[in-house]
Amino acid sequence: MSRPVFRFAPSPNGELHLGHAYSALVDYEAAQAADGRFLLRIEDIDVTRCRPDYVERIFEDLAWLGIRWEEPVRRQSEHFQDYRAALGILQDRGLVYPAFLSRGEIRARVEAAEAAGRPWSRDPDGAPLYPGDDRAMEPDRAAALITAGRPFAYRLRMAEALATAGGPPVFREHGSGPAGETGVVATDPARWGDVILARREIPTSYHLSVVVDDAAQGVTHVVRGQDLFHATSVHRLLQVLLGLPAPVYRHHRLIVDENGRKLSKSQRDTSLRALREAGARPEDIRRMVGLA
Ligand code: GLU
Repeated sequence: MSRPVFRFAPSPNGELHLGHAYSALVDYEAAQAADGRFLLRIEDIDVTRCRPDYVERIFEDLAWLGIRWEEPVRRQSEHFQDYRAALGILQDRGLVYPAFLSRGEIRARVEAAEAAGRPWSRDPDGAPLYPGDDRAMEPDRAAALITAGRPFAYRLRMAEALATAGGPPVFREHGSGPAGETGVVATDPARWGDVILARREIPTSYHLSVVVDDAAQGVTHVVRGQDLFHATSVHRLLQVLLGLPAPVYRHHRLIVDENGRKLSKSQRDTSLRALREAGARPEDIRRMVGLA
């Protein structure tokens, strides 16, 4: 039987902090316990925010923690063709449309509706769902706007995608979701509305590239924070539509600050580098995240 494949997939847009250390250690130890392979993937599709020096620091921080990974490391910025191909499959099936409303236009729409007493649905991250104005736009008109240089995003036709997939898929959860979901878990991709699959300036999205890469790398076990639990609904739907295998998922608790908030990359004091420079050792980091 082939060995299970685990991966840690940070984005190099800031310093790794205690939350990343916890995630990477839980992930690495799960891989070792299962006699699995451990891969590192650099999620650097956002070329405006990701920086090569952060990639180097990721390597340094993880090695310092005692984590070892297989080479070569996959960098998403080197695989835009793969994501374009996956998008093309969904486009050929009529499940994608170019959407032209800007963030400001969406906000104005939402504010007007809410001022009139009509509540507007939000996705699990709190963002308002896309109004869907452009769903019915004539292809010729959309093509003309794209040629004229209008900013746009390719969005999934969620209702049609769900119909094509035969309804919302399920997944196997080995950890637990924010509300304790575990075992075979039902998804609800519709909560995300017509999610973005790609943008004019970035020919992919987090959801699309993560799904393509997990399959390309033969990942069987996805270990990550509970902040990504609901994103799994979108990932499973895309896997079904693209005919990709389903990994098992293990979502873990998040490391929070003293105010109970999720750590962010802008909080310098919890960065692994700052802690190391202040004299912390890897075993101190383990203790700080409750892994002693
Ligand atoms: N790149 C994502 C992040 O930094 C993680 C992606 C994943 O594990 O699916 O939060």
